[in-house]
Amino acid sequence: MNTLTREFCMTINGKPVLTEQTVPVINPANETVIAQAPKASRNDLNEAVKGARAAFSTWSMLSIAERAAKLEAFSDAILQHRDELANLFTAEMGRPINGGFGSYMEIDSACHWCKVIAKNRLPREIIEENDSHTIEKYYTPLGVAGLIVPWNFPVLLAMWKIAPALLAGNTIVVKPSPYTPLTTLRIGEIARDIFPAGVFNVVTGENELGQWMTEHPDINKISFTGSTATGKKVLQSASVNLKRVTLELGGNDAAIVLEDADVKEVVPKIFWAAFSNTAQICVASKRLYVHQKIYDEFLAEFIQYAKTIPIGDGMNPATLIGPVQNKMQYEKVKALIEDAKSTGTNIVCGGIVEDKPGYFIPITIVDNPPEDARVVTEEAFGPVLPVIKYSNYDEVITKANNTDYGLAGSVWGKDLNLARSIAERLETGTVWINEAHILLPNVPFGGHKQSGIGVENSSEGLKEYTNTKTIMIKKK
Ligand code: NAD
Repeated sequence: MNTLTREFCMTINGKPVLTEQTVPVINPANETVIAQAPKASRNDLNEAVKGARAAFSTWSMLSIAERAAKLEAFSDAILQHRDELANLFTAEMGRPINGGFGSYMEIDSACHWCKVIAKNRLPREIIEENDSHTIEKYYTPLGVAGLIVPWNFPVLLAMWKIAPALLAGNTIVVKPSPYTPLTTLRIGEIARDIFPAGVFNVVTGENELGQWMTEHPDINKISFTGSTATGKKVLQSASVNLKRVTLELGGNDAAIVLEDADVKEVVPKIFWAAFSNTAQICVASKRLYVHQKIYDEFLAEFIQYAKTIPIGDGMNPATLIGPVQNKMQYEKVKALIEDAKSTGTNIVCGGIVEDKPGYFIPITIVDNPPEDARVVTEEAFGPVLPVIKYSNYDEVITKANNTDYGLAGSVWGKDLNLARSIAERLETGTVWINEAHILLPNVPFGGHKQSGIGVENSSEGLKEYTNTKTIMIKKK
């Protein structure tokens, strides 16, 4: 069946559910409506939560090995639909189908994550065993987990939540972004054949649906990835029943290029650190600080490299950078470029957005804007990058830390001791040296400051879907 002429249904308590009202899904490469996604009502959400609650009592009683086996089967089942899902993903998300951050990579990484996370265990621990006491610690699931996902990595970031939530023994209600619901709806259909009814629910709608989830009295946990502004609202409304929350929020990552960096070697790497996925990555390099000794050489090389990169429809196998994913983000990035122009900063590459169908914005590079320029202080989340000159390391660390965000950052150069000492002083959850956005299922990932609360991935991420429980036995 042609994926885009089929109906896309929600998955509620193991059943397909359509709604009278729908939300149009737009292909960002040409602005055509490619499908309609269901628009869940409060009642639909209540049914999903009710099903998840009912399924919790049996799902949580399975052994962790039994739940892991289901996750492995789920990963295999998704892979069987790899081509269909990758094509659907490009159509709704705009991402190039091939390449390092292509749509195939998204599907494959999600499956890999699912399998690796399924191998985690949270063993019971005897804290004390003596003549007077046995003290035991272990982890219990929370209940129903609401998983709220953004549009930039809709499948992979969903899986970062789905796999640990289910492995720990929770049942789930997944809500993708209104901009990118289709691949997740399709994955929900695949899940129906794997998990018992009620364990795995997918609901779609507009942003209000996310709010209803955070307020819902029978959801015990919200794992949210999205903007810092929305994350604050989530935290507020989750207080209704003291939901556990994990928040993975925005960032304004600095990439710091040391004076001894090999310009020719680092330019392509830093380019992709900034512009992969059309710069719509929470941990994209969003402010590029280059030492004054190599600034001119670096900037010239960077611009030259940028001009070789094909931008276009992600369905074209030659495309390396696709459109911005949605109109809201497109207008936001255009406004940042206009602001840079109106304040007289020097745009040395791109900057002119053609009036044609599709949310295409050229690679735009701003030469040494002031620190208080909007293009420096705001998270662009699109292909506009400030390159800023600095002269000493204390100065650049202060500038890099001068933000409410604290997601990640990177340092590039040959002197690894210097790079490491800078990395230790950056106020972020992750720092990479001579690479960027390498994320792994066994490595904890989370933001400092206003970039988040809690972590995902690794056993620490798994524990976020549990309560810690101790049992203390007094011996005679
Ligand atoms: P967003 O905050 O607008 O939306 C994220 C999700 O929240 C969507 O599913 C949306 O429908 C839902 N939502 C909207 N309003 C809500 C509300 N009041 N209550 C509950 N849910 C609500 O973010 P976005 O534009 O989809 O994503 C881009 C942002 O996500 C960027 O800031 C980016 O840095 C961040 N992000 C962070 C990470 C990370 O791991 N830290 C990863 C990817 C993206």
